[in-house]
Amino acid sequence: MDRPAWAPESVDMQQASPARMYDALLGGSHNFEIDRKAAEAGKRLVPDLPRLALSNRAFLRRAVRFLADQGVRQFLDIGSGIPTVGNVHEVAQSVDPEIRVLYADIDPVAVAHARAILVDNDKAAAIEADLRKPDELLARVRGTGLIDFAQPVAVLLVAVLHLLSDEERPVEKVSALYGAVPAGSYVAISHLTSELRPEDAGKLGRNAADVTRVGIHFRSKDGISAMFDQWELVEPGVVELPAWRPESERDLYETPGRSLGLAGVGRKV
Ligand code: SAM
Repeated sequence: MDRPAWAPESVDMQQASPARMYDALLGGSHNFEIDRKAAEAGKRLVPDLPRLALSNRAFLRRAVRFLADQGVRQFLDIGSGIPTVGNVHEVAQSVDPEIRVLYADIDPVAVAHARAILVDNDKAAAIEADLRKPDELLARVRGTGLIDFAQPVAVLLVAVLHLLSDEERPVEKVSALYGAVPAGSYVAISHLTSELRPEDAGKLGRNAADVTRVGIHFRSKDGISAMFDQWELVEPGVVELPAWRPESERDLYETPGRSLGLAGVGRKV
């Protein structure tokens, strides 16, 4: 397969990536055959997998609108993924065009594509950065000059913390971000869970490890709630993706009681 224009030279086209697999699940066009194969293998095991991806995107949209309505004017979206319908800057800037958005991702395709769609937007940017190295990530964020750490920041960690193993200490990474932002800031987290469908979670975790060599770590509700320990949880707390402040029937992509993801929003007081 020829290398498409959107794929930087550094990208290994034979190795699936979480960003491109997720793009394939959402019906996007920035993925390789290996990513599509991985997504198809996941769908064969758990046919409602694409609805999980849509459910997660719907949570992201609701959380961003909620946070913009709370008055937050800057968003740091870590593990932002390949841009797709309902991007954070589109949702946030539809509430207030002055809102600033910084996207950060470890995947060069995600960053390159985000930069391409943001060329005319001086209030949004994208950087390559690794959540596992929060000090470096924060230095890069400061280097952009886009985020003012004296003002409240909405930190988005949506569908990314489950890509960190226990050894990579995801709770500590959330804590490092807590330490960097002022009171009045928020964190929004969604995370794959083994709480409600342990068998399906097990199948998907094994599929990711075997077929794609990508580690996906489904966690219990307690494990995910621990990420909010320092934050004051906003109602309704840590709940299934479709149960976090649904706005309409449209948000109910997954059957209640059967979501493979949990989500919550916390405030630094
Ligand atoms: N946040 C978007 C959403 O929920 O629609 C995209 C989620 S996608 C499933 C996960 C993203 O996290 C991918 O784009 C992947 O490249 C990124 N990612 C994985 N590990 C990361 C890390 N250590 N640091 C930053 N981003 C990471």
